Amino acid sequence: MNIKRGPAVEISLAAIRHNYELVQGLTHGKKVVATVKADAYGHGAIDVALMLEKLGVYCLGVAYAPEAIELRKGGIRAPILVYFDNITAEDIIKYNLTPIVYGAGAADILSAEALRQGRQIDIHVDIDTGMGRVGFLYDRESEAIRALSRLKGVRVAGFMSHFSEADLKDRTFAELQLERFLRLKSEIEGLFTEAIWHMANSAAVMSFPESHLDAVRPGLILYGADALEPDYKRPKAAAFRPAMTVKARLLHIRRVPPGRSISYGRTFVTARESLVGVVAAGYADGYPRALSNKAHVLVNGQFAPIIGRICMDVAMVDLTDCANLNGIRENCEGLATPGIEGLATPCVEVLLIGRQGGKEITASEVAAWAGTISYEILISLGRANERVHVDEDGL
Ligand SMILES: *Cc1c(COP(=O)(O)O)cnc(C)c1O
Repeated sequence: MNIKRGPAVEISLAAIRHNYELVQGLTHGKKVVATVKADAYGHGAIDVALMLEKLGVYCLGVAYAPEAIELRKGGIRAPILVYFDNITAEDIIKYNLTPIVYGAGAADILSAEALRQGRQIDIHVDIDTGMGRVGFLYDRESEAIRALSRLKGVRVAGFMSHFSEADLKDRTFAELQLERFLRLKSEIEGLFTEAIWHMANSAAVMSFPESHLDAVRPGLILYGADALEPDYKRPKAAAFRPAMTVKARLLHIRRVPPGRSISYGRTFVTARESLVGVVAAGYADGYPRALSNKAHVLVNGQFAPIIGRICMDVAMVDLTDCANLNGIRENCEGLATPGIEGLATPCVEVLLIGRQGGKEITASEVAAWAGTISYEILISLGRANERVHVDEDGL
């Protein structure tokens, strides 16, 4: 249960629809397994899944069975691939989920449980071609894979593999992984004639058309964050639109003389007379402490740096170089006090992520400042805060 406190997160369903349509264009209409794990990367899995289902998405993908059960309870009827969790056979059958299997033992249990209930269920099979996480080893477990064709309670409806570095400009290893996957395919597809083959994550959807095969499994790009390393040449058609905007209130602005230290640890000291704002967002709200003295926010369409350590509940921002702060005052009805100092300015929004006045802060930039990846930023801000979904297209 999230208690409303720090930032407000706005999710554009129109942006996600646009991104989904771009994926369809880039893959020439291949089947899309839309990855909505971790609450759709902080974007709200049920809202996102309901919209994608209306658009006719082939399948949804989550990590764990309880995530899929939430979607079923939210009214989702589309097939749901469960990437990691294949041990809760009863739930998988009860909620009509499609587990990805990466070990013979799990396949046996699923098959036995399905038969006990007089059923047969679909499974997909994970092949480890170089991710080194889960999956039947592409070159060592061919017998175990073939044996899956003999299980009566399961039908192998798909084979999948996962790239470990399809985001890199150097595609050597991604190509090797695809080659391994395709070699196995040519050896065993005769035994599994009904199976589809899929491998491409967001980075591969954008950069590696040969890997699109029968279906693709994007997550990140559906939410509009960039999946490739910065100097990668992007296809023109890959104009993904960020779906998440994160707004925080400016609680307070005051004028501080030179030589004053700001926040815990005194890591920032004012070099001049400064206007220091207090932003209602801290690490409790998923705004990482690693952003201390690194991040920028948008205030009135201008960039302003975060100064000093980010606290649990608030962060300080240097507004000294922001022009038109009077504009802030004008926007605030009922403020009688002239000047900026000491004003409570509850109507002012500071953007932590988003676009304002032609300027933009993306999740990838915030991630780079914090020394992490956009995935982690989207998930932590999206899941910690109150969210609203908007659909600018009114659909
Ligand atoms: C998370 C995940 C994806 C989606 O990855 P993105 O990089 O977000 O596109 C696809 N497949 C599997 C197995 C995953 O775990």
